[in-house]
Amino acid sequence: MFCKMTKINLSKLNIRKAHELMQNGEVSARELLSFYLGNIKKHEKNIHAYLEVFGDAFEKAEEVDKKIKAGEEMPLLAGIPMGIKDNILIEGKKCSAASKMLEDFVAPYDATVIKKLKNEGAVFLGRTNMDEFAMGVSTEHSAFGVTKNPHDLERVPGGSSGGSAAAVAQQECFAALGSDTAGSTRQPASFCGIVGMKPTYGAVSRYGLIAMASSFDQIGPMTKTVEDAEIIFDAIKGTDPMDSTTSVGDPMSHSECVTSDLTIGVPKEFFFLDGENKGVDKDVEENTKRAIDIFKGLGLKIKQVSLETLKYAVEIYYIITPAEVSSNLSRYDGVRYGLSKNGDDVLGDYLKTREKGFGDEVRRRILLGTYVLSAGYYDAYYGRAQKARNLMKNDFEKVFREVDVILSPTTPSPAFKIGEKVDDPIKMYLEDIFTCAANLTGVPSISLPSGLSGNLPTGIQLMAPWFEENRLFELGKLFEKNQ
Ligand code: GLN
Repeated sequence: MFCKMTKINLSKLNIRKAHELMQNGEVSARELLSFYLGNIKKHEKNIHAYLEVFGDAFEKAEEVDKKIKAGEEMPLLAGIPMGIKDNILIEGKKCSAASKMLEDFVAPYDATVIKKLKNEGAVFLGRTNMDEFAMGVSTEHSAFGVTKNPHDLERVPGGSSGGSAAAVAQQECFAALGSDTAGSTRQPASFCGIVGMKPTYGAVSRYGLIAMASSFDQIGPMTKTVEDAEIIFDAIKGTDPMDSTTSVGDPMSHSECVTSDLTIGVPKEFFFLDGENKGVDKDVEENTKRAIDIFKGLGLKIKQVSLETLKYAVEIYYIITPAEVSSNLSRYDGVRYGLSKNGDDVLGDYLKTREKGFGDEVRRRILLGTYVLSAGYYDAYYGRAQKARNLMKNDFEKVFREVDVILSPTTPSPAFKIGEKVDDPIKMYLEDIFTCAANLTGVPSISLPSGLSGNLPTGIQLMAPWFEENRLFELGKLFEKNQ
């Protein structure tokens, strides 16, 4: 745990401190990497956070050390060992989306976020486990086995970026990337006691992210501290000609926000400040109330608000997402990508490939999606869901004229047991109840550790208006300091 030479506790470092120490020659990138590889060796057989640990990480760390020795001033992320969710392409490495369909697929190019992190000198430790094609909340839908929650090995780490969350929590990497379509960075972060963030839709390029639902997907950081998340976000954000949905120019707010002047809204559809419990676990409720009191104590105003459309969020999400999934996943036909099985004819090839390649949850979504898009039902389901999504956006715009940030628990309860919900898709889908609205509307959102329930972490979620990530980071840091 301690760096031999300097007695520095490596597990306690944040990115800025690690950078300083590396730059001053007190810790080398190689030493830092050895620390995390040591933890992988120790814990991975219990946790299974990784689908693959890369063999070339030392080489990359040594390149950083060499440059530092030569007197180069390195970027903040140089030499920082990171886990990368297995749906983000790294050129020359396998990228499976935890699916048999892509088990042996090798990425032909770097995702834009990877290119940016490589330019910073970040070191990639490996590919982290996830629910197949990012559909799920527990990693139980991975085709390659479940990841365990480091706080209790009988429980799930959350999902779909469960491998990334568990790896950060178990110190099997310094920080990680996840992707978030309805909560997949925030929910596992809350289950594992770390920070998880979903940027504004369009703030971070999706080029090289294996698509699940393209109008929702965003890549986000998963880290030990809020500042670490901010550093990674700053490194990966920005316009990308390869993703036409990225925002043009720099719409990000850079105004220094005076946090004590802010008003926090608590939507009564999610959480009552007093009275009526909406099915939230008692400890999660207590910890959320405590968080609200902390903000109050710091001078922020708290206001109960109403977001009428929130009660439809899960329904809207589970109509539009399957529709996008069924369309996005039609490319896996055994001809162009990954697995290829022979049937009796061309149709037979498709059917066999898809039957062998996709797991149950993926198939369920494709069936649902094809149904809601079919000619006879399009207006009744997909069309209406899109209209409802617009209404929700209007609802958020209205509430953000009254308050600066929206606060809620991240999830209704702490991590559940492995196997507890796996046969009940509705229970799984309800896990997204607090998180999916940020994806439906596109606003940025962050999950912060809010305390414990027994030995299990809980989380609170903050949402800010479009491109006001700054506000989330400032409030997050304030909360962290005053916990
Ligand atoms: N739980 C949601 C789903 O299964 C979201 C997953 C995600 O954010 N990638 O669709």
